Amino acid sequence: TERTLSIIKPDATKRNLTGKINAKFEEAGLRIVAQKRIKLTKEQAGVFYAVHAERPFYDELCEFMASEPVVVQVLEGDGAIAKNREVMGATNPADAAAGTVRAEFAESVGENSVHGSDAPETAAVEIAYFFSGLELV
Ligand code: ATP
Ligand code: MG
Repeated sequence: TERTLSIIKPDATKRNLTGKINAKFEEAGLRIVAQKRIKLTKEQAGVFYAVHAERPFYDELCEFMASEPVVVQVLEGDGAIAKNREVMGATNPADAAAGTVRAEFAESVGENSVHGSDAPETAAVEIAYFFSGLELV
């Protein structure tokens, strides 16, 4: 079994889509083992997305992630990292397969409703950024 860090982004929390997105995760066999709603500062979003610091959309991305509360969560299951990314769909909703979260809910390539870790190493770092050991059972 594996764990991954998921974020339900501001465009989705704003439209009350947390439950519908969580239903897709659970239907895919992903268990929500930790979850909380937080409001990031732009600086905190910047640290989280530091790997994208040189990309042209970095500033806009950090502003967006700090614009409204987000729901951060840890999903668990067999192959959870890949499975979650499958349920999320492609970054750009125009390219996302039918039935995926981004195909159904994302508004644009930037405001695309969800984040999911992309590898075991990043999952470990991202989970530790938001959750303490005591919050993870
Ligand atoms: P995430 O890392 O959020 O799970 P991803 O791995 O599909 O998404 P990345 O390439 O890592 O996509 O980009 C991180 C995030 O930056 C995207 O989810 C999106 O919100 C934003 N982003 C990516 N490309 C663009 C772009 N061309 N214009 C605006 N925002 C973008
Ligand atoms: Mg990514």
